[in-house]
Amino acid sequence: MRVLIVGAGVIGTSIAYHLAVRGADVMVLERNGVACAASGKSGGFLALDWCDGTPLMPLARRSFALHAELAASLQGDWGYRRMTTYAGEMGRSHASQHDAAPGWIAPDVAIAGQIGSTATTAQVHPAAFTIGMMRAAEALGAELRPGEAEGLLRRNGAVAGVVVGGEALEADAVVIAMGPWSILAAQWLKLPPVFGLKGHSLIFQTGATIPPEALFLEYAEPGGPMLTPEVFPRADGTTYVCGISSESSLPINPDFVSPDDGAIDRLQALCARMSPILARAPVLASQACFRPVTADGLPLIGAVPGARGAYVATGHSVWGILNAPATGEAMAELILDGAARSVDLSPFNPARLAALDPDRVSITRRLGR
Ligand SMILES: Cc1cc2nc3c(=O)[nH]c(=O)nc-3n(C[C@H](O)[C@H](O)[C@H](O)COP(=O)(O)OP(=O)(O)OC[C@H]3O[C@@H](n4cnc5c(N)ncnc54)[C@H](O)[C@@H]3O)c2cc1C
Repeated sequence: MRVLIVGAGVIGTSIAYHLAVRGADVMVLERNGVACAASGKSGGFLALDWCDGTPLMPLARRSFALHAELAASLQGDWGYRRMTTYAGEMGRSHASQHDAAPGWIAPDVAIAGQIGSTATTAQVHPAAFTIGMMRAAEALGAELRPGEAEGLLRRNGAVAGVVVGGEALEADAVVIAMGPWSILAAQWLKLPPVFGLKGHSLIFQTGATIPPEALFLEYAEPGGPMLTPEVFPRADGTTYVCGISSESSLPINPDFVSPDDGAIDRLQALCARMSPILARAPVLASQACFRPVTADGLPLIGAVPGARGAYVATGHSVWGILNAPATGEAMAELILDGAARSVDLSPFNPARLAALDPDRVSITRRLGR
């Protein structure tokens, strides 16, 4: 069976890997570069039980286990490691500090407690993981094809491929995994809307000075909103910090995503206040990206109703890196066997949300530059 996946983010490449393991003939179509968007610029934080009590619980728990298995079985070079995780706040005066407070934070940061251990929290370098999934899929015969999907090929009432550069690429099944740009596919298919929420981040060169301790903080920015910075020291000697979100509009071309005016300066000031190490460390990257979100906050994972041969996997919001492996495994089962066995996908069925009418979706290339 030939499967064409549109989008080489963490979701598209994870589906490609699991399909390739099962022996499918896989092609991944990517308009810019593997991991060029949120999948390359996110935190890469993983948690076993933070989705417990929600419809995401089975997907997250299966994914947390698969991340460990993939790192071991593929000898993945993507910085997978377990972490200790703390919550706290900064910017208020505090009389006492939690016993286990990391030594590398400023006195201004008060740790409220430990919220994750090496049994329950972990991380990957998200770009390296996404590329690692694509390389592992390629080693099993999958093909990465540069190009932008411009429409769908239809035959006998079914979706039979993708149009790229005016040419048809044929396939038995097509998977829309275009992250927040999946909204563009609503011009071709009856899909519920997917929105993009912007987040800013910095990567510092910190060497071995910060141990594997993740931080989730609250910070009332002077004269500004309440911020919730997240800090992830990585195995490669860098430290990732994100913390300023915005509702800026999504450029049609992922290459045109750039930080909002002033956001990086605010984030850098926050980091300098958070840790004397970050205050001194060289900045390796200042960046922004959009996470894909749906109207009810749950991903769309499944067959597209009324369009035989079409599937969608997007809208993973803040847990796309965590939930990619189980999404890939379940999508491979759905496409090849007709049903997912490893995880119940019914909470993520695209049919649960009202679809846009493709005839009434008018998305021009005006913003695409
Ligand atoms: C600041 C921030 C921090 C985050 N931190 C974490 C975290 O710590 N842990 C976690 O689990 N998740 C985290 N996330 C969420 C995670 O990054 C996303 O859920 C995930 O990366 C989404 O992956 P995706 O493959 O769906 O989309 P994307 O990464 O956006 O990939 C979509 C791909 O489709 C391609 N594409 C689009 N249109 C076309 C077309 N027409 N033809 C061909 N290709 C196309 C794009 O170029 C892109 O490569 C974070 C997100 C943000 C914004």
